[in-house]
Parts: sequence; C-alpha cells; structure tokens
Amino acid sequence: MGLYPEGLYAAHTARMGSTNVGEDEMKSCLVVDDSKVVRSVARRILEELNFSVDEAEDGQVALDACSEAMPDAILLDWNMPVMNGLEFLRALRERADGGHPIVVFCTTENEITFIQEAIAAGANEYIMKPFDHDIVQSKFVQAGIL
Ligand SMILES: [Mg+2]
Repeated sequence: MGLYPEGLYAAHTARMGSTNVGEDEMKSCLVVDDSKVVRSVARRILEELNFSVDEAEDGQVALDACSEAMPDAILLDWNMPVMNGLEFLRALRERADGGHPIVVFCTTENEITFIQEAIAAGANEYIMKPFDHDIVQSKFVQAGIL
C-alpha cells in the first residue's frame, strides 16, 4: 500500500533508548492486524513506549492469544479475514476477564462510519491509519494506559 515508507519511521528508531523497566513490570499490548507491515510498524512504536508486544493476524488468533494471556492493551484492525475486529471485540468483551484490556480500534477513512459501532461494542479509543508514534502515544494516554 505504500502507507509506511521505511524513511518515515526511521526517526522512531532513533528515539529508542535504554530503559530501566523490567520485563515483568512492562504492560503488554496485542497488535491485531492482517497486514504484516502494519504489525511491524505498530510493534516498533509500542516497544518504544515500553510495551511488550505480541501479534495476531486475525481476530481468531487474537482470541486464542487472549486465552493464553490477557493483554493490558489491544491495537485492533477492522478488516481482517477469518474474524474481523468487531467480531473479535464483541467476543472479547463477553468473556469474564475480557473487560480488562484497553482496546484502541484502527480504521481507515473509508471505515470511519464504523467507529460508533466499535465504541458501542466496547472499544476505548480509535485511531486513523496510517498512524505514527505520536498518534499512538496520545491515544494510549487518552485511554489511560500510558
Ligand atoms: Mg486489515
């Protein structure tokens, strides 16, 4: 898609520094997106924000990951094969422990009408693609996870 040219994100790498946060104190974020490129961009940003990051390529894989270990935050794509973001979100929020994660929904301009539906289904915040470090950071602050 060309939304994530390498040069655009080089600056983020430069910001990465050593941290004193131990792995067990780190908050966890599950990145759910069918695009490997988007997942790796999100991973880089979230690791800069001191999250431990796991990835899932669709909603079903994400549900399985949540059964293994419920994350503190979820960055969630809308359009995915097998199980889309909304189906995942509804299934997550039905679970006894599924209210815990802060869920930030990712959407494109074309999908903006779905935002109300996502919020009604239990999303905490939404974010427009393509996102960058500052947008993710400010949304996570607004959602109370940073
Ligand atoms: Mg997608």
